[in-house]
Amino acid sequence: MEEVHVGTRADAREEPRLSVRGLSKSYGNGDDAVNVIADLTFDVAMGEIVSIVGPSGVGKTTLLKCLTGLQPLTSGAALIDGRLIDGPPEEMALVFQEYTRSLMPWLTVRKNVLLPLRHLRLPKPELQRRIDEAIAAVGLEHATEKYPWQLSGGMQQRVAIARALAYRPEVLVMDEPFASVDAQTRFELEDLCLTIRDQFNMTILVVTHDIDEAVYLSDRIVVLGKKPAVVTRLLDVDLPGPRSQIRTRSLPHFADMRTEVLSLIQEGKTSQ
Ligand code: ADP
Repeated sequence: MEEVHVGTRADAREEPRLSVRGLSKSYGNGDDAVNVIADLTFDVAMGEIVSIVGPSGVGKTTLLKCLTGLQPLTSGAALIDGRLIDGPPEEMALVFQEYTRSLMPWLTVRKNVLLPLRHLRLPKPELQRRIDEAIAAVGLEHATEKYPWQLSGGMQQRVAIARALAYRPEVLVMDEPFASVDAQTRFELEDLCLTIRDQFNMTILVVTHDIDEAVYLSDRIVVLGKKPAVVTRLLDVDLPGPRSQIRTRSLPHFADMRTEVLSLIQEGKTSQ
């Protein structure tokens, strides 16, 4: 068993890749306004994997929409590399749970991966290289000429991830990315996430309902609770690395962290 504890990646960096400063968000106006997020402040360092967890309906997806520039904030600020986010940032890519809706059924795997790169006007060899590299990173070299409907759910989600990777985002944002795949595929995709973070030094922000997944994947966990939502706890996941599905999940400290996150979520729910 690993004895050495690794620090979070935040230890090694000074400038946050993402910064959330007093972010609040309401839907609607005047008397009809629904105040979903009260006042969130946290940073995500370069190369960090941060999970956002909390009770259903607390505002996790709303927060991701604000951070990806898809929804305007009501007050506060979200910054990427110190720059205000006021629309979808070029440096970000998004992976949603609903891969069936994000892939084009009439395009092959290769052409689906190419799609978001077309506007970058890259020289053809560079374009091919990026596509090949991304498809190899998700282990789909054998399926490049297949159509999404010829692939399993897990493979389709790999295509969605490859498409995000080929774009080379600095920040990969994922909303329940593995919720619709079977348990074994889920483990593989979680490990893929850890590998691509290491390979591309990517910063990854992920919303998940799965507490074990949050603990396994993350350097830190942002626990949201209450209504309107606040950060009820920012947890450092001080599990030894490199992580491994069997070894890491069988550590007593893994079980302790899972229990801690679960009870924080329960508290956040009851205090809504
Ligand atoms: P979570 O992702 O944590 O389940 P959401 O961010 O989806 O939570 O939703 C938080 C709250 O905001 C819910 O009460 C939801 O009904 C409300 N909400 C989400 N989107 C909208 C919208 N476009 N207009 C009005 N209310 C919304």
